Amino acid sequence: MSTEFLTICELCKRKGVNLTEHHLTPREAGGKNLPTALLCTTCHKQIHALFTNKELALNLNTVQKLHDDEKIQRYLKWVEKQPVSAEFTIKKSRHVRKKNKR
Ligand SMILES: [Zn+2]
Ligand SMILES: [Zn+2]
Repeated sequence: MSTEFLTICELCKRKGVNLTEHHLTPREAGGKNLPTALLCTTCHKQIHALFTNKELALNLNTVQKLHDDEKIQRYLKWVEKQPVSAEFTIKKSRHVRKKNKR
């Protein structure tokens, strides 16, 4: 048995990843004291690239809902084949870029 501290992403379930805290309801939408999920940096970036904070707060405020989303399903199929150490540049989808503009 390894004594190495094993980190597991709550979304893609890959082990040994760098975890970051994701506010399931974004802080901007009042989620400051609401549950968070520990996600690898790749999943975390992916979520914020696909969805606006408003969409996250309204429709995707649990890990299960995120997991069941069609776009995330497609992403998960892809990411499970990627090495844990890989760093990705993830582009925000146009609709997120547009909506976040003030
Ligand atoms: Zn992940
Ligand atoms: Zn987040």
